[in-house]
Amino acid sequence: MKAAVYEGEGKIVLTQRPVPSLQEDTDAIVRVTLTTICSSDIHIKHGAVPRAVPGTIVGHEFVGIVEQTGSAVKKVKPGDRVAVNVETFCGTCFYCKQGYVNNCTDRQGGWALGCRIDGGQAEYARIPFADNGLTKIPDSVTDEQALFTGDLLSTGYWAAKIGEITPGDTVAVLGAGPAGLCTMMCARLYSPGKIIAVDTDSRRLQTARENGLADVLLNPGDMTGEELETAVKQESHGRGADAVFEVAGGEDTFQTAWKIARPNAVVAVVAMYEEDQTLPLPRMYGKNLIFKTGGVDGSECGRIMELIQAGMLNTECLITHRTTLDNLMEAYDIFENKKEGVIKIAVTV
Ligand SMILES: [Zn+2]
Ligand SMILES: [Zn+2]
Repeated sequence: MKAAVYEGEGKIVLTQRPVPSLQEDTDAIVRVTLTTICSSDIHIKHGAVPRAVPGTIVGHEFVGIVEQTGSAVKKVKPGDRVAVNVETFCGTCFYCKQGYVNNCTDRQGGWALGCRIDGGQAEYARIPFADNGLTKIPDSVTDEQALFTGDLLSTGYWAAKIGEITPGDTVAVLGAGPAGLCTMMCARLYSPGKIIAVDTDSRRLQTARENGLADVLLNPGDMTGEELETAVKQESHGRGADAVFEVAGGEDTFQTAWKIARPNAVVAVVAMYEEDQTLPLPRMYGKNLIFKTGGVDGSECGRIMELIQAGMLNTECLITHRTTLDNLMEAYDIFENKKEGVIKIAVTV
């Protein structure tokens, strides 16, 4: 079968691999129908994901049809349309029981798919713990609508949850890329008073506004850092944002995140950085901030699918490009280099 493989040293190539087979009775084999490239795949390519093992098929955000199940799999059966969770998890360890599935202690647990075990930029994928990692797609939900359930929407949903948003809050989201837009979308579920989107890409900001995801757009490219802080204060009773989501992962966006937060705010760091970040504690002193850092816990896919079906989460606006697996490498070039105003690429397999 065709598969995209991380070869190490900055290389992902489209090549041939054997079709996977069941290894454990809790596994399922999924025939991939629609897949996509995530920013994490680009981080893997850059060698910035220490857990990524060269030789692994990449891809951790995809939907498909169950082809085969192990004898212990109860919740899905061959023929079911399913969304695949970015995280495979045992469901029984200390962390899983508390919903911290990112920290599942099983050797195949946590974020393994597409970095340590073969993923879904391929024609087929083996999914360990299939009962936990597969979510059935209702007939009324299309593959495109379901595509981001297991990773981007899970990330946004998890971020909004840890952000402790209360009704009427001013929420600031740094980064209006795919994960930022999903974070805004999920933050809306908590009825904030206002969502401020911050990005240097005015096209992405417009996407946020046009789809009702943000109320205020701020472009740090048009102002100094101090002006940005002032602008956020003006939108938040002179205080600063009640919850800040750092989803940009840029050179100085971590610093911006804590600066635009009001005292005692939650600053949720969702972005995956390629470089270390510094905490200037003397300058932060007295602001009494609460930092939470990421690694999505993808434990709410069932709920997310219900919200998609109800029309409360709709990510179709994220899909700017469509292509096929044969053209995956071209899609990587467009996605990595942010060409043609790309947000997400739906790749038909
Ligand atoms: Zn991802
Ligand atoms: Zn576990």
